[in-house]
Amino acid sequence: MKCRLAAFAVMSIAALPAVAQQQDFSKVEVKAQKVTEGVYMITGSGGNIGLSVGKDGCYVIDDQYAPLTGRILAAIKAISPAPVRFVVNTHWHGDHTGGNENMGKTGALLVAHENVRLRMSTEQFMAAMDRKIPPAPEAALPVVTFADAVTFHWNGDEIRVYHVPPAHTDGDVIIHFVKADVVHMGDVFFNGSYPFIDTSSGGRIDGYLSAADRVLAGIGERTQIIPGHGPLGTKADLQAFRGMLKTARDRIATLKSGGKSRDEVIAAKPTADLDAKWGGGFMKGDTFTGLAYDSLP
Ligand SMILES: [Zn+2]
Repeated sequence: MKCRLAAFAVMSIAALPAVAQQQDFSKVEVKAQKVTEGVYMITGSGGNIGLSVGKDGCYVIDDQYAPLTGRILAAIKAISPAPVRFVVNTHWHGDHTGGNENMGKTGALLVAHENVRLRMSTEQFMAAMDRKIPPAPEAALPVVTFADAVTFHWNGDEIRVYHVPPAHTDGDVIIHFVKADVVHMGDVFFNGSYPFIDTSSGGRIDGYLSAADRVLAGIGERTQIIPGHGPLGTKADLQAFRGMLKTARDRIATLKSGGKSRDEVIAAKPTADLDAKWGGGFMKGDTFTGLAYDSLP
């Protein structure tokens, strides 16, 4: 257990996007980027926000942290004066759901996979951060939950929201704007960096691979992809991410099935040649290797 904690000590808790611990939000700038006609990506601090605007009203995917709600709503208002009617959460983490209570109070209907409501309504323990997360207030909980999929017919588009088997967490959903040709993948896609596999929430590296395959099978060459973290991406970016995961997964799985312990696998540095390209985010090669190891059978 000691070695395990030491491996995590290299991560700065404040740098983890899932944790808002003592973060100073005063300097955060919330910016909107046009993805295509009627669809935007909003960045500030925390998970990337998706926005659809049009005749029916604003439709929002994820809402970062509570202290940013005013700035997020101002950024939306600069694009459309219509109220936010729906907020869909890609998963339960606080950097994606922290604004739920505020958004709900403005009249938005909160929608998520049933495991998002379940995890938000009960105390969670994130082993990777050695941290307890208290239950969210009732007003922050998704009002509409679903098990598999739900489709919104909204702003002239068909917005398909579907659950994928646990990758980042057990409540992951992908949102596909069919007509706009845009996909929001939440933290099932970190564009350009190793993902955080939240094994305490059921996350698994094999789920990352199958989710990427499912998305790749359903999109075209020109589809734009909003990742949970990182810049707006393309199909090629997702293919590169998937390729990196497959390489790392196979190496770690071979070591694990060969009888190597967690510490031995980390010490073997199976991601050494990948770290320069993918280890520049908050998730370093050693931590990623440990979490991938934990999630493998
Ligand atoms: Zn997350």
